[in-house]
Amino acid sequence: MFVIGGGITGAGIAREAAYRGFRVALVEKDDFASGTSGRSTRLIHGGLRYLERLHLRLVFEASRERRILMRIAPHLVHPLPILLPIPRLSPHGYYKVAAGMWMYDLLALFRNVKRHRMLRPADVARVEPTLDRSEVVGAAYFYDATTDDSRLTLATILSAHDAGAVVANHAEVIRLIQEGSRIVGAEVGDRIDGSERIVRARLVVNACGPWANRLQGNGGQGQRRLCLSKGVHINLPHTRLPLRQAVAMAAPADGRLMFAVPDGAFTYAGTTDTPYEGDPDRVAADASDVRYILEAINATFPGCRITEGDVISTWAGLRPLIDRDARNTYETSREHAIWERAPGLLTIAGGKLTTYRAMACDLLRVAEPSLRAAGVRPQNVRDTARTLLPGTPERRVFSEGDSQGPAWDEVDRIVEEEMALTLCDVLIRRTRLFYEALDQGLSLAGAVAARIGPALNWDEAERRRQVALYESEVALNRAWREG
Ligand SMILES: Cc1cc2nc3c(=O)[nH]c(=O)nc-3n(C[C@H](O)[C@H](O)[C@H](O)COP(=O)(O)OP(=O)(O)OC[C@H]3O[C@@H](n4cnc5c(N)ncnc54)[C@H](O)[C@@H]3O)c2cc1C
Repeated sequence: MFVIGGGITGAGIAREAAYRGFRVALVEKDDFASGTSGRSTRLIHGGLRYLERLHLRLVFEASRERRILMRIAPHLVHPLPILLPIPRLSPHGYYKVAAGMWMYDLLALFRNVKRHRMLRPADVARVEPTLDRSEVVGAAYFYDATTDDSRLTLATILSAHDAGAVVANHAEVIRLIQEGSRIVGAEVGDRIDGSERIVRARLVVNACGPWANRLQGNGGQGQRRLCLSKGVHINLPHTRLPLRQAVAMAAPADGRLMFAVPDGAFTYAGTTDTPYEGDPDRVAADASDVRYILEAINATFPGCRITEGDVISTWAGLRPLIDRDARNTYETSREHAIWERAPGLLTIAGGKLTTYRAMACDLLRVAEPSLRAAGVRPQNVRDTARTLLPGTPERRVFSEGDSQGPAWDEVDRIVEEEMALTLCDVLIRRTRLFYEALDQGLSLAGAVAARIGPALNWDEAERRRQVALYESEVALNRAWREG
């Protein structure tokens, strides 16, 4: 099996296939988790919002996967208490929310971290003093989980590799190879050394997320329409928004649900949800995205008076949503779909970070009969729901405003053991310098490039090129400040 795309979807499929004993290879054109999987809200959640729409199966499945991930990745998936305030004018009154919370616990088989509690306004004030409680009739206090999305993806990739999968980042599928009507492999370009090679496989899996249509074209028989929706987050110093737990917020503009999540020395908030038709490789926050999030924060926590000047960094990701009305992406289903565009080629898109393992199981269920019919016999079967993910906890190298940077032996280890091949890999996804340093790591970029350069065979010109590439990523991230 040949998997294209090293986001959480491709990583999960490679892991599942390798654990079932199939021979599998995966390529990623940039870095693992450089797409949507490293730009999420970082929640491992049952999906309270899906409950509102009575997508009970989705909530049940996500709650089960949340439980599994907390078991197999305790170093990466941590319980997260969340406060859901109930505004006086909410269409969902106190008792309706209480009933919903019981349903949420029930769909988790009462095996969530703890059961929910319903709070009256006086309790809300005690639990979260920063919240404007004058307009609330109470709140629900419940649990989901949080993760480092890039590290969860990387751990899944490393686990697939441990089980025998061949995995490569900075390796791009340039075109699919077709013989007759059948897809039989792909031409892969190495973006580090420029070499090209052909990979042949009984089954090719397109797990390219927002890029899926680039490999297969849009529309036509046997194809599904994918529309993209942009979601933006902003990162703030925790001292400016000192939350004790995550808080659900309603956007004043349209009532959409968002989250503010405390995260060590930071609090991040998001997300937006707007149709996107630009280049998936250049997605970034714009000024209106940041304003929209700040409005929600300042309406929910008026005493904090957060301004654009408080924003340390932003991130923007794309939801690949399937079918329906591209103008109203918020209503489009988050459930995944798997379809066969041509014999030998399966595409999988949609879904959630939380449910990636279940998506991989679904894909294998579709793929196994044809693989077995073609004579592919898996050797041994191990259960991905019971095997720990490898890796270290998120690399918390910074506290707010800290300019020390990662310890240098630390960056050596990242290059040796975590498949980082570029300066961006190290500074954006293996450490969180890009998101957490006040200057987004610009002052340290040259020194880190000099440190890792010898291990990656960089000469002086390549070191300068790597620093320039990093600077342009930071500039893209800051472009909203000019709008
Ligand atoms: C703003 C936002 C917030 C979210 N928050 C949450 C959340 O809190 N919890 C949750 O459970 N889910 C969340 N989701 C959903 C979740 O993040 C996505 O469903 C998931 O990350 C999609 O993963 P993916 O692997 O399908 O796509 P991606 O992560 O985008 O991976 C696709 C990969 O394919 C690679 N690729 C593309 N073309 C090629 C090629 N030709 N050759 C090789 N590689 C290629 C890309 O570089 C990319 O890395 C969120 C989504 C968004 C957008």
